[in-house]
Amino acid sequence: MTRKDALATVLLGPDPKLRRMVAYWAATGVLYGVCTALILVATDFGLVDRAGAYALTSYSFTGVLVFMALVRFSAVLGIAPRTLAVLQGLFAISCNMWVYTIAGPLREASLIMLLVVVAFCTFAMRPRQTLLLSAAGIAAMGATMWWHAAHDPAHYPPLVEGLTFGFASAGLFAITLLTGEMNKLRARLKRQKEDLLAAVATIRTLATVDELTSLANRRHMNEVLAAEERRQAHGHAACIALLDIDFFKTINDRFGHAHGDAVLRAFAQAAQGALRGSDMLARWGGEEFLLMLPNADLPEAQQVLARIAAKVVALEVPGLELDCALSFSAGVTARAGGEPFADTINRADKALYRAKAEGRNRVVAA
Ligand code: GH3
Ligand code: MG
Ligand code: MG
Repeated sequence: MTRKDALATVLLGPDPKLRRMVAYWAATGVLYGVCTALILVATDFGLVDRAGAYALTSYSFTGVLVFMALVRFSAVLGIAPRTLAVLQGLFAISCNMWVYTIAGPLREASLIMLLVVVAFCTFAMRPRQTLLLSAAGIAAMGATMWWHAAHDPAHYPPLVEGLTFGFASAGLFAITLLTGEMNKLRARLKRQKEDLLAAVATIRTLATVDELTSLANRRHMNEVLAAEERRQAHGHAACIALLDIDFFKTINDRFGHAHGDAVLRAFAQAAQGALRGSDMLARWGGEEFLLMLPNADLPEAQQVLARIAAKVVALEVPGLELDCALSFSAGVTARAGGEPFADTINRADKALYRAKAEGRNRVVAA
């Protein structure tokens, strides 16, 4: 981790979601800064009372810093993001009403920011919460306007205040509805993305795993062999074995296809249990399996096959009374130099053929 990364982790937290929330609040802080700067400029031109502007600046900056700490340590403090968003929204409304109170002729401009507050918070809040925040905004705005109109009608004419209230409330209400629709759209997109990811995962499984035995399928094994070929272009110790269950057709004929399937599953499980971590077994087709043993020489490969044979001979499949133990024949060979795996498999296939011809239930090395 670089020093910059370490600093970012301390400041923004380790969790990407938390980092996004901190960055989001930092951007909000910038917006507070811009609004405060505009108010301070207005004080220079005598439009806004200086003492009130300074008090508001202190209030808003303290709030921004407190919320920054609350967001950064929300997980430690156990504050849910939605609760934080509601509190941030209420704080923003209070700042907004303060601006309305001191901004004199600029006060209507501050109402634009009230719309921004609701639109901002909607990303982190439930639709109901957004509606309530919007209602809180309308209530706060109504109360502020009514108070000014009642106490200082010369500067806050009741009719103008009432009509402004009407415009701002309609705008706030419309924004709430629009953001609600947008949220529904976002939720639908999220659901579709999740469905798509699940479908891709299923397709990936179907493309790589044999449905009956849960071993790698032929297609996937070919991909692995091609990758291994590319990785070890100059050849590397590796062995290939082809295993074929003996007299499997008889099992099918005697007990039925479903029991044959059960035997294939049991065989695959037993064989898999005898492998080293790096070995890979795939269903090559029907009752035939391909075993790839990377970094193994022929004696090591033969040892693994002997372990598989010991497991298979002891195999019991429920509902199956076999006259003699299940067995398999195998051909095994080491990959020569940098030869293509296709050639190695060909040699293993010929060795398997010999194993069958010599009486089955044996491993022939080539
Ligand atoms: P050998 O000892 O010479 O290998 O004889 P075998 O009977 O095992 O071989 P054969 O090639 O004559 O028969 C293989 C049988 O495997 C034929 C086919 O119906 C059956 N089979 C192939 N795929 C499946 C499958 O997915 N499920 C079941 N139950 N049987 C299968
Ligand atoms: Mg067979
Ligand atoms: Mg066969």
